[in-house]
Amino acid sequence: MRVLPSAPVTCFVCGSTFTVQNRIEMNGRERTVHQQPSSCPFCDAPLLNIPALDVGIAKGLLLTHAGAPEEKKAYGTVARFLERFTRTEAEVDSLLKLARDLDFDAWEALDQRLLEHDKNASLKRELKYIPKLREAAREGDLFDQLQRAAAPVKDAHRVRSNHHMAIFRQRRPS
Ligand SMILES: [Zn+2]
Repeated sequence: MRVLPSAPVTCFVCGSTFTVQNRIEMNGRERTVHQQPSSCPFCDAPLLNIPALDVGIAKGLLLTHAGAPEEKKAYGTVARFLERFTRTEAEVDSLLKLARDLDFDAWEALDQRLLEHDKNASLKRELKYIPKLREAAREGDLFDQLQRAAAPVKDAHRVRSNHHMAIFRQRRPS
């Protein structure tokens, strides 16, 4: 990640754009980025940085759901995964759609090709979970389970957004 000293940010709740100053603090090898302000000046929503949602993140979500050991260790549950990678209900829906549209055969073929060049243990483990996930997707309850796990996260996102939108409306000069 490259951190610019100052960067424009668009608030994920109210859509306002403002400039954030990034201060990088080195503590041994640990690099911490402090952002100023740390919340939106228009609605107080926290600055939450998430990566652009893509197929790789959807695969991570599915592997977390399947209980793959590395994902389980890193993220715990589907709900915790969603809390980390999404900020709004729309982002949850986008990520679930990416998971729903995922081509399991292409995923498996890609991992097998990669494995020919690199005897990567985590790829090997990942390959064990793809047939299980494909089967669950075919039977139809995989996405119901994901939707159920996502429901409380979407509720929490909605409550947070409503709270900050109320602040935004209060502050807006009438
Ligand atoms: Zn805002």
